[in-house]
Amino acid sequence: MLSPPTGWQPLQADRKAWPDGVRELVMDVSKGPRDIVWDITYTCPLRCVHCYSESGRRPSRQLSHEDMVRVADALISLRPKGIVLSGGEPLAVRGIFEIADRITGAGIPVILYTGGWSFQPWMVDELARTVTRVSVSVDGATAQVHDRVRGRAGSFQRAMNTLATLDEAARERRARGEAPVEFGLDCTLVRSSFDQMDDFCTTIAPRFPEMSFIWYGPAMPIGLASRTGFVEHEILTDAQVDLLVSAAQHTHLQSLAPASVQVSVTDNRMLQMRPDLIAAGLIPAMQVEPDGNVRAMAIYEGTVGNVLTEPPLEVWQRAIARWSDPVVTEALGPARTMKQWAEATRRIDYVFGTDDDRARIDRRPPFAAAGTAANAAAGTAAPERAG
Ligand code: SF4
Repeated sequence: MLSPPTGWQPLQADRKAWPDGVRELVMDVSKGPRDIVWDITYTCPLRCVHCYSESGRRPSRQLSHEDMVRVADALISLRPKGIVLSGGEPLAVRGIFEIADRITGAGIPVILYTGGWSFQPWMVDELARTVTRVSVSVDGATAQVHDRVRGRAGSFQRAMNTLATLDEAARERRARGEAPVEFGLDCTLVRSSFDQMDDFCTTIAPRFPEMSFIWYGPAMPIGLASRTGFVEHEILTDAQVDLLVSAAQHTHLQSLAPASVQVSVTDNRMLQMRPDLIAAGLIPAMQVEPDGNVRAMAIYEGTVGNVLTEPPLEVWQRAIARWSDPVVTEALGPARTMKQWAEATRRIDYVFGTDDDRARIDRRPPFAAAGTAANAAAGTAAPERAG
């Protein structure tokens, strides 16, 4: 385990760029991130149309097991309230359960996100032993919609199989008096799936009596979803986002779900990192790339250091400095609509990304809207081998 980082200073406390009243907040944030998301690999068997990390389309940058342990120890040293293992597909990482075990063994809850494609039944016991919560991503209530959004035929069935195995294992463990695996599903909504919201509660959740949560959120206009064509055709309209997070819709969805399922809705604006939202205390998690590089801003390109080679807290404080960079505040400050958010994303990614990031952005294919021949092909083709 790494030594505790040294040399902490409240770097941002006196910055003039922050709105009034933010000094205490920033000083508190400077002590460390509340939560951490570690995209532990950029390998992924799926090719989601909205993928923010473009996993599978870029080198995996996955570390050796020994170095993954070092990254885990660096993140543990920050003592966050939780660490999310995501990707890419974390279940495609050999040794993932040792990493999860190391983190939970240090007293920090681990939430693991999976698309389900790489899940195998033997993993259930390992998940139960090492992970606090498993979230299975399901982006459509039917195979037709889900597979098109996720870019791979058969992915809906694999997700359902994963949920079924988790469900059965939870029931068996409960019968043996053991703690069941806590699991649920996470739905990233696009216009193609917006009308299916009810179906997650009425047709999917009842199939898995041990499921404990459904989480709905809109696809954010980031990564591949920031492409103009995607924003035009698939990003929720502002009115749809407002409806999604309305109290009436939440009550409606909760009323449809089995009593044991907790329904949550979010507009994901916390992740936008608009200056006024940060000032209001909406601070996203620290986002770590597979190789230990830390993003300045969770959902945008641009890194500020690496926890393998520098004290993690110093890297985090460098991230905080980015939040008040003039490029960031000018781009995000006025962004109120999803379209404006997408424009801000494209600017920030291009300014702060590396040359490789910019080259990847330039190579992005135009989005093929639902119903076109190009889209039909994209929804059924096996993805190219992950980098
Ligand atoms: S499952 Fe989809 S969204 Fe997640 S990393 Fe893979 S391609 Fe991206």
